[in-house]
Amino acid sequence: MEFVYALINVLLLAGLLILFARKPVARMFSRRRERINRELDEADRILQEQVKLPELPPEGAGEPGPAAQEEIHRIAAEAGDEVARIAARHKNDCMELRRELVSQSREELIEKLKKRVLELLACEPYATRLREHEYLFTERIVSCIALTPGDMSYLNTHDVLYVTLTSAHELPPEVVDLVKTKVQALLDKVGGKPSLWVRVDPTLVGGLTLRIGDTIYDCSVSGSIYYLDRALRKRQIRGDETPQALLADLMEGVLSREVKIHQFQLGRVISISDGICWMDGLSDIMYGEVVEFDCGERGMVLDIEPDRIGCVIYDKYEHIESGSRVRRVGRIASVPVGDELLGRVVDPLGTPLDGKGRIWTTERRPIECRAPGIPDRTAVSVPLHTGIKAIDALVPIGRGQRELIIGDRQTGKTSIAIDAIINQKGKNVVCIYVAIGQKETTVADVCAKLEKYGAMEYTTIVCATASSSASLQYIAPFAGTALGEHFMYSGRDVLIVYDDLSKHAVAYRELSLLLHRPSGREAYPGDVFYLHARLLERSARLSPEAGGGSMTALPIIETQAGDISAYIPTNVISITDGQIFLETDLFNDGQRPAVNVGLSVSRVGSAAQTKLMKQVSASLRMKLAQYRELASFAQFGSELDDNTRSVLDAGERMMAALRQGRYAPLPDWKQALLIFAVSEGFANRIQPDRIEEYGDHLFDYFTATHPELVKQLMSGAKMSPDTMEAVRAAIGEAV
Ligand code: ATP
Ligand code: MG
Repeated sequence: MEFVYALINVLLLAGLLILFARKPVARMFSRRRERINRELDEADRILQEQVKLPELPPEGAGEPGPAAQEEIHRIAAEAGDEVARIAARHKNDCMELRRELVSQSREELIEKLKKRVLELLACEPYATRLREHEYLFTERIVSCIALTPGDMSYLNTHDVLYVTLTSAHELPPEVVDLVKTKVQALLDKVGGKPSLWVRVDPTLVGGLTLRIGDTIYDCSVSGSIYYLDRALRKRQIRGDETPQALLADLMEGVLSREVKIHQFQLGRVISISDGICWMDGLSDIMYGEVVEFDCGERGMVLDIEPDRIGCVIYDKYEHIESGSRVRRVGRIASVPVGDELLGRVVDPLGTPLDGKGRIWTTERRPIECRAPGIPDRTAVSVPLHTGIKAIDALVPIGRGQRELIIGDRQTGKTSIAIDAIINQKGKNVVCIYVAIGQKETTVADVCAKLEKYGAMEYTTIVCATASSSASLQYIAPFAGTALGEHFMYSGRDVLIVYDDLSKHAVAYRELSLLLHRPSGREAYPGDVFYLHARLLERSARLSPEAGGGSMTALPIIETQAGDISAYIPTNVISITDGQIFLETDLFNDGQRPAVNVGLSVSRVGSAAQTKLMKQVSASLRMKLAQYRELASFAQFGSELDDNTRSVLDAGERMMAALRQGRYAPLPDWKQALLIFAVSEGFANRIQPDRIEEYGDHLFDYFTATHPELVKQLMSGAKMSPDTMEAVRAAIGEAV
């Protein structure tokens, strides 16, 4: 009987369970089924995309036939598998990461394809097919040959011009004859004689090249692959392409029908040492042009002599050998620019150094560019607040101004520049910090500080550290300026810091001495003034017609034992619109920032101040000068009359009021209020070391009890006598 009851209980329990738990369980299973189905569909789709390769063009000259196409497809599909896998695996990741991974695997894919295509085309039947078209290639080449200015000047001094015809296989006589007659006809016009050499070079794989003087007309397979490689790598990846699209893009490039003739100039490395390469050839090269060596390394031309060309190598030069080939890339040295660089740390060539992945920009700007002309400029009149009392009150900086920060080592030069950058937060100013010859730890520290205070999002750090080559250090400020110009010409305000230009001058001296240029004072080359002048002249405030943007430059110069009359300091002082002189003695006395008020000037002056700041700081400079004079005098005497004592006390308090910690920029109205309170004598009974506390109390009191006065002060307008009275009364209450 008990057994029957137990059975009934179990059945009842089971019934209840089925009744209530059926739905949730069914729902759980159906969700799981759906997810599995979705994943299967996705896998199917990826598979489909992978096998659907683009239609191939029919066979023709220089193209792989069906077997080769199959082979290329197989390699592409294999490598594409990887791309597809990565793309699928990271489809939910952020676009940046996807982009990075897909581009990495695409690079590998390009490398594989390139190698395989070269191997295939070197074998039969493609080799024969290519040879069949040699006459056609030659006809095309000779139809576009011409003499360059370099060839003409060579012919002025020599009566023969060397012509070399190089092919992958031995050429039939009719091809050689064709070249001979065409070149002869070309040189007859200018009265020169050709000296024709015919060579066989199997590394071309197929096709041929013709060299006239220094100019190469390249119609070879290896040449096409070189250009294809360059073009493919330049193509941008958005991160959301399907694997099919990526493959199609590559295949289209590899299998394109057209036989193109590439024209470029070639030279030869004569010697290389200390990052300087001497070359000959390259007859039409221009100053500042980029050249590429056989090993892939690049350099920039900095010296052109009648019989040799000097260039600086950007990076490592160990792989470049004398006698190796060097080619013109066909453009002046330039750097990538754009909003994408904001928040990043890059080297002067735009390569990221912060490990946050590749930077995809669409625009480039030449590193050397003419400064805006006089009609394109307008007067500096808008303040660029640094948030530092001693600067905003005494040596104000305006948008478009060049203000030098100068001082001995460890006097707080970098700190001022960093504070100025931090203070631009929310003011729509793009900041660029160019580190030249700094220690890597210093740059990392700057970056961390900017990051901490939220300033990195509108800042780019262009970095050529002390361990970088002299050429990179030389290019760094120009690269930073090119980036700044990009923003300036698009109507934005830019603040650029060059930290520091004395190291830049040293890097340029090194290059110049290695280039055997005559040296002048302190072994610097004669054009070091021109170097800095053309750099700093590019900072300007543009007129509204020219775009209306501005670039404010804060170059930094390090002096030796406070000697501002040395060669480089005097140069840069005379180029800039004023200087902030930082003094070691002041710094050691605890007066930080250690601005020497007597030696610091701003040639733009109060035009770059708000009316309020102008009003409150009008007599400040005079009072401080008076204080300094009396202070040095008072050191010797102990008995002072009341008048002197009061001037000294007031001066001491004012100096204390100008003290400010790092990373604590003050808004304009707070600075003006504190300076006003101290100069009106409200702080006379407060000990100098408590002035900072007093200031904080004053600001809090004003914000809490006099919001209408704060509003008025924030507007930056001049105080009317009534307002001034009200402010005085409020300060009186606060004490
Ligand atoms: P260098 O010649 O090595 O480039 P520098 O002149 O750029 O030095 P900073 O690196 O800015 O000087 O500062 C040197 C030291 O002075 C830092 O350790 C910093 O903490 C201190 N310092 C700078 N400014 C202030 C300040 N306003 N208040 C307190 N300390 C400061
Ligand atoms: Mg520094």
